[in-house]
Amino acid sequence: MIQRIAVLGSTGSVGRNTLEVIKAFPHKFCVVGLTTNSRIDILYQQIRDFQPALIAVKDEVAARRLEQRLNLKKYKYKLFVGKEGLKEIVKDKRIDKILLAISGADALLPLLSAIENKKDIALANKEALVMAGRIIIEKAKRNKVKILPVDSEASAIWQCLEGQDKKKLKNIYLTASGGPFRRMQRSQLKDISINRVLKHPRWKMGKKISVDSATLMNKGFEVLEIMSLFNVSLDKIKVVIHPEAIIHSMVEFIDGSILAQLSVTDMRLPIQYALSYPRRLPSKLPAIDFFRLKALHFEKPNLKHFPCLELAYQAGLKMGTMPAVLNAANDISVNAFLEKKLDFVSIPVVIEKVLSRHKNITNPDLENILSADSWARDEAKELIARLDSR
Ligand code: MN
Repeated sequence: MIQRIAVLGSTGSVGRNTLEVIKAFPHKFCVVGLTTNSRIDILYQQIRDFQPALIAVKDEVAARRLEQRLNLKKYKYKLFVGKEGLKEIVKDKRIDKILLAISGADALLPLLSAIENKKDIALANKEALVMAGRIIIEKAKRNKVKILPVDSEASAIWQCLEGQDKKKLKNIYLTASGGPFRRMQRSQLKDISINRVLKHPRWKMGKKISVDSATLMNKGFEVLEIMSLFNVSLDKIKVVIHPEAIIHSMVEFIDGSILAQLSVTDMRLPIQYALSYPRRLPSKLPAIDFFRLKALHFEKPNLKHFPCLELAYQAGLKMGTMPAVLNAANDISVNAFLEKKLDFVSIPVVIEKVLSRHKNITNPDLENILSADSWARDEAKELIARLDSR
């Protein structure tokens, strides 16, 4: 049977890779929904290629821009707008699985609605899990919804744990390529330019996640993501720098056995597995050539040079609303960096200040999380404005 997929956030890097996977298996998958914020040109091309029944864009302006072009075409579609539009789309009975590739905190509410509507989710977004992991996982359990990880490290851990007794898990080795500044001293990081940050040695990604990879906040988020997805405590998750990015993560059991998942560095692989699960499909990606590779390397992450990872650990120890505050303060700081209003090395400084001022709420409900999120955004903006005016 053909699986009908809605790709939320289809014009980003993961979204576009997803459509390539779907295109490669026309008898397995088809596209029923595509959404973007405002990258109308890319969305238009995708609509021509896949003719989805459901479309959503950010606002009326974007909708009008799209419709002007779609007038040329004669096929039936429904066009939705804004956050409400995403909520409507995930209800549609024609959807078998949702690939959620919306970036940042915006993914949280559509994710929760998708779960309420009992749709299985291939989840590429990690910020939602960082903010509200417990709520998401509990809701998914109640609704018997599968959350299928797309993030390469989470996918690796998921594959290694498949069929295993999770009670016998001893450690998770979460691998990190180390980002573009692995070997740099903190003093060298001070005047780092945006272009340097956006050039990741292993992965081609969007701007936000490229900055997060350079600060190692991305790895910090993954620590929190993995705590929620696999219900493991923080002390069992060890971050290992592995520059080749061939091992995507490993799990260790109580008998000392370690399972690892290895592959070429290409997002199409974890995307394909999340779509085809529990089956495996062939792929045209190049194989790993061990004889050319010769060696794999491992290092300890330097928390002094990359304080964002340490901040994520601290948030993971406290939990409650701390991870949501971490995410929100990071979001604002990364934006300020991209707008040249904040130095690269000041990103963790702002986040640390915001975290230290937050009154943590343990066992938060969604409302607590959303208000912590907006509080942290305001607080971070204020701090950055003050730093900027000096
Ligand atoms: Mn990852």
